[in-house]
Parts: sequence; C-alpha cells; structure tokens
Amino acid sequence: PLDKNELGRSSWGLLHTMAAHYPDNPTDQQKSDVKTFFSTFSRLYPCEWCSKDFTEDVRNNPVDPSSQEKLSKWLCDAHNRVNAKLGKPEFDCSKTNERWRDGWLD
Ligand code: FAD
Repeated sequence: PLDKNELGRSSWGLLHTMAAHYPDNPTDQQKSDVKTFFSTFSRLYPCEWCSKDFTEDVRNNPVDPSSQEKLSKWLCDAHNRVNAKLGKPEFDCSKTNERWRDGWLD
C-alpha cells in the first residue's frame, strides 16, 4: 500500500497535471466536470483527516474552472493551504506551469 506521503505526492502529481492540461477556453461541460471532480475527489480521498479538511477547504474556496490559468492557480493556492497546515514551505504559484506543464528549466 501507499503511505500517506506517497499517496499525497502521486495525487498532487495527477491533480496539477490535470490542471496544467485543462483548456484555456473550457466548455460548460468541462467547467461542470471539474467542479464535480474536485468535490467528489475531496470526499473520497483515502486519508480520513486529509479528506475532511480538503472537503471543507473546497467548500470555503470554490474551484475556479474558468481557464487553465485560473484552475492551476486555484489548485496551487489550495496545495499551499495544505503546505501551510503541514509546516511545509509555500510554493511560488508563478512557477506552476514551469513545474507541471513545461518542465523545470533547471
Ligand atoms: P507534496 O506536497 O506532495 O508536493 C509534491 C510536489 O508538488 C512538490 O515537490 C513541489 O514540486 C510541488 N508543489 C508543492 N506545493 C505546490 C503548490 N502549491 N502548487 C504546485 N505545486 C506544488 N498530508 C498530511 O499529513 N495531512 C493532511 O491533512 C494532508 N492532506 C492532503 C490533502 C490532499 C488533497 C492531498 C493531495 C494530500 C494531502 N496530504 C496530507 C499529503 C501532503 O500534502 C503531501 O503530499 C505529503 O506530505 C508529501 O509531501 P512532499 O513534501 O513530498 O510534497
């Protein structure tokens, strides 16, 4: 089985990659799908206290499904709220596409 940290790293990888490849001009269906995805994902995430907090976080900070840039920024901010809760450093959200879509330039 995956431990909590491996599950977290893999999950963030999937979520940020999805956001990185989300359309610039999504259809109404895609906007609706991404909102449903995150509310369902947050409720089913297989780590009980992570799921509880993330569900509440998504409720308080609704997904912005309006474009790739907005969705990626929303997810970066959400991940940063988890980072803050865990005492991890804040990620610079201006580097999101470099990290998750275009590749690190280092
Ligand atoms: P991770 O946080 O897993 O990040 C992976 C990589 O993403 C980093 O190396 C960095 O390159 C990049 N990154 C970091 N921050 C950002 C950002 N803001 N935007 C874009 N990219 C970024 N663990 C707990 O112990 N308690 C919890 O309550 C908890 N809740 C979680 C809720 C969710 C929805 C998820 C997906 C995970 C949760 N986790 C929780 C796991 C935790 O967030 C980490 O995944 C885990 O601690 C491993 O951390 P890491 O240091 O390897 O980096």
